[in-house]
Amino acid sequence: MKKGIDPSTLKITDLRFADIDGAPKRCTLLKIETNQGITGYGEVRDASSRTYAAMLKSRILGENPCNVEKIFRRIKQFGGDSRQAGGVCGIEVALWDIAGKVWEVPVWQLLGGKYRDSIRCYCDTDSEGGGRDMGKALKERMRMGFTFLKMDLGIELLMGHEGCLSAPLGFLEKMREYKKTVFSTPHGSIDPRAMRGEAYDLFNTAHPFTGIHLTEKGLDFLEQYMADVRREVGYEVPIAIDHLGHIPVEDCIKLAKRLEKYNLAWMEDPVPWQMTSQYVRLAQSTTVPIGTGEDMYLKESFKPLLESGALAVVHPDILTAGGILETKKIGDMAEEYGVQMSLHMAESPVACMAAVHVAAATRNFMALELHSVDVPWWNDLIKPAVDYSSGYIKVPDAPGLGIESLNEELIASKLHPDFPEAWSSTDEWNKEWSNDRQWS
Ligand SMILES: [Mg+2]
Repeated sequence: MKKGIDPSTLKITDLRFADIDGAPKRCTLLKIETNQGITGYGEVRDASSRTYAAMLKSRILGENPCNVEKIFRRIKQFGGDSRQAGGVCGIEVALWDIAGKVWEVPVWQLLGGKYRDSIRCYCDTDSEGGGRDMGKALKERMRMGFTFLKMDLGIELLMGHEGCLSAPLGFLEKMREYKKTVFSTPHGSIDPRAMRGEAYDLFNTAHPFTGIHLTEKGLDFLEQYMADVRREVGYEVPIAIDHLGHIPVEDCIKLAKRLEKYNLAWMEDPVPWQMTSQYVRLAQSTTVPIGTGEDMYLKESFKPLLESGALAVVHPDILTAGGILETKKIGDMAEEYGVQMSLHMAESPVACMAAVHVAAATRNFMALELHSVDVPWWNDLIKPAVDYSSGYIKVPDAPGLGIESLNEELIASKLHPDFPEAWSSTDEWNKEWSNDRQWS
């Protein structure tokens, strides 16, 4: 136990935020302060809102932060799918950090110990041009040390090519027109300025309802792209594919069948995760492994899909799945169904370190996503800086998350313009209240 600390009288006294931008996404870092000078670091899910965490402040003030599960169960009802879970999960992560610092053990030890000393990482890779160009970009990742690859392969690549897609006439033109606006902003499709009105509706139309289909020419194009990538990188390195686009399950099946011989690690989020029966149909129609999970909150969301037998991979994000312990539980449950776990992560090094501890402590873990390999300052947001130079991150032995401190100067220089002051008072949230009991 840390000298001078009395765990039995430890209390949460404050919750504050710093929103940074360009990492490459908007990241909301949080700190939980205690009455004995120990601070826990956490983070709200990428491109989410600090409000999801701030509204929970009054519900955790005065609580003993070491009772992580007890507090999690109290605030759990305020999480939801995707970004809505960001507040609950960010707080849960900070509580583990405090508990580890108080008892002077790393979080992975609190989870039961570790299966590995370093965590295999993969990184998203963007590339302009064709499959050969993507192949070259991926080869560069391999030169950097990465042993696992992921790329996008979907309708985005076909938008500029005639005859590759069919849709109700005029629909694709409208999409292209809005995309021009959306992607001229720094945050692509998740920029709040671009996601209003008709654009919002357009980008929030789920796969079965867009009416977009791949033509044979489109399928030929995507297959050739994949073949060109494999020609560059060979067949021995795993490649996962993501962002097929909002196409119906029938088109996912056609594409998956075309791609079987290219040896995919997994096909990610082909249709919304809620559509279990469509996942079953897809999985039964192809040998391409199917994965999903980054928008799923809590173990119970994963259960129907795992029971259905449709998944080869669960891919939760710690900051949506329910935090550190819930994500480990999801991994453990997946193992019972013979399913591996990889981790989605597109946030700051705080979330990255939280993921490292879960990855260390979960047996069926495969690879952790890095979304910011092309952001040169990203590693330095925490001290010690994140080191993935070998394609792996070493599992730390330091207490808690293994973060000594945040790099406050760097944070100050990257603040989101809407929140120009880091760690300002959140007193306005001290009295937020409702009768939270979920039954009468
Ligand atoms: Mg994804």
